[in-house]
Amino acid sequence: MNQLHEKTDLNGISFLFFDLDDTLIDHRTAQERGLIDLWTKFPPLQELDPKELTATFGRVNAGLWERYRDNSINKASLKRKRFENTFKELEVKNVDWREADAVYMDAYSRHWDWIEDARDVFVKLCEKYPCGIMTNGFTAVQKKKFEYFSFQRYCRLLIISEEVGYLKPDRRIFHYSAEMAGYPPEKILYVGDSYSSDIIGGLQSGWKTAWYVPEKDFLDNPAELKKMAEKPDLVFHAFSELLAVLS
Ligand SMILES: [Mg+2]
Repeated sequence: MNQLHEKTDLNGISFLFFDLDDTLIDHRTAQERGLIDLWTKFPPLQELDPKELTATFGRVNAGLWERYRDNSINKASLKRKRFENTFKELEVKNVDWREADAVYMDAYSRHWDWIEDARDVFVKLCEKYPCGIMTNGFTAVQKKKFEYFSFQRYCRLLIISEEVGYLKPDRRIFHYSAEMAGYPPEKILYVGDSYSSDIIGGLQSGWKTAWYVPEKDFLDNPAELKKMAEKPDLVFHAFSELLAVLS
């Protein structure tokens, strides 16, 4: 897919920022496995197919994150409603959202793992470039991930939206991060999986962008993705491709 990109020229890059969830860390799998653990612990949930639970929670949670990003709900409602609304939609009764949240968050953190092949490439790139992570998420959870994966060992900057006060794609978090890094926007490459948050946010802020689209996702929806793929400076399916362009 790189052949689509006549403008792939990342020679002037001086600083790399990475997105965290579903770029370096396989959040999607951890979420699914955490929900299946939840399903095994609550008999009322076992009347459902676990796939219904994971699909509904995924959709409800993503919608609530959009509302959180627009400031139409706060963090406490997001945490509450993602379970309450999921259970309501699936007509699950007698499961308290607080208990569900506690069990899920514990299980979720036990399933954290790297995206396949991301770790080696990330470590190599951190030896070659100053690097940082910039993530949308809650401080308490994201800080635990930083610790678990020892990101402070590799990165100069670990930036969390909740601490900055703005979520990607808001330009203000990109401007803040560029200032912290000490480089002009065109010298910074943002590597992320979300087109709407990472790529649009990066492009609007004058950064270079590398869009990570796992091969499987690309095959699911080729026409739409091909259209979108014209905008980032690089689109890659495997981290070895990113390393090749930056070496
Ligand atoms: Mg992401």
